[in-house]
Amino acid sequence: MTPKHAIEQHDNQVGLVGLGPMGLALADALLNQGHSLTVWNRTPGKADGLVAQGAGRAQTVSEVVAASPITIVCLNDYETMYRVFEPATAELDGHVLVNLSSGTPSEARAALTWSAEHGIDYLDGAIMVPPPMVGQPDAVFLYSGDQGVFDRHRATLASVGDPRYLGADVGLAVLYNTALLDMMYATMNGWLHATALLDSANVPAEKFAELALGWFMPSVVDYASLAELAPALDAGDYPGALGTLEMNLNALEHITRTSEEQGVHSGSPRLMKEIAEHAIAEGYGGRNYLAVYELFKQAKPRS
Ligand code: NAP
Repeated sequence: MTPKHAIEQHDNQVGLVGLGPMGLALADALLNQGHSLTVWNRTPGKADGLVAQGAGRAQTVSEVVAASPITIVCLNDYETMYRVFEPATAELDGHVLVNLSSGTPSEARAALTWSAEHGIDYLDGAIMVPPPMVGQPDAVFLYSGDQGVFDRHRATLASVGDPRYLGADVGLAVLYNTALLDMMYATMNGWLHATALLDSANVPAEKFAELALGWFMPSVVDYASLAELAPALDAGDYPGALGTLEMNLNALEHITRTSEEQGVHSGSPRLMKEIAEHAIAEGYGGRNYLAVYELFKQAKPRS
């Protein structure tokens, strides 16, 4: 007999636990792709629309597990997953859980340990798009953990987006997720802070954006040039011929001082200035700005 978890398939039967905004989007995508879907949510009424579209409403999490070989979990956090699945642990042996709730790498590793204790085939994942983009072919979903589990269920996972497998270390999906959000927030804050600086002189955000975004992406940073810089990070190669970290510190000092002079928040530029100062103190002053990467790799600057 083929074990339940070894079936190679486009799983038609899929369970889904968690119907917040993201869970509802996942459910829609799964139904649109023709899956037979069984859902459970703490607040059962959130399933009403899905039930009208043909989804099954489970009264308990055990019913979800019994109805499908694979269950997608989309809850607010990992603790909630443990709490919600506690009454169903006896039925989980051989079941596949794909956890798309946000968390940290250590939480993902703890979830793998918990899964092993219950005989669960566990995949950890992270969703890199907002709910309206779920189901589009270019919606990026990250996965890590057992590659065999990923490969067997790739077709099902492709129903909600573009599944990217990152490796056997189960913490990788949430680590990539955190890193990408780190980049997003830094970029967003950079733009917001720059806009606040211009607002201090009554320049509307829209007017500044016209010039700033046209200048920033093509002439200073674009995705292709960032990609070209990545090998230098791997090699620790930061030639300062075209501009040194000392020179960049000068710019960061100006940004911090101008923020103070203009009466806008100076915490973010001051932090960037302090990071550059630390890197210079570590001997990178004559290298280019990328050398701050050496500092970012440390838990805290060496004194
Ligand atoms: P959320 O507020 O993070 O999660 C809502 C879900 O968690 C609902 O099903 C809710 O049940 C359930 N829940 C919360 N506390 C619970 C408890 N004590 N017991 C049982 N269930 C509980 O909203 P979300 O936007 O759907 O996000 C789900 C996951 O996707 C999160 O980890 C989030 O970080 C991730 N994500 C979200 C987005 C986004 O744009 N929304 C994007 C990427 C990733 P009730 O309905 O009963 O409250």
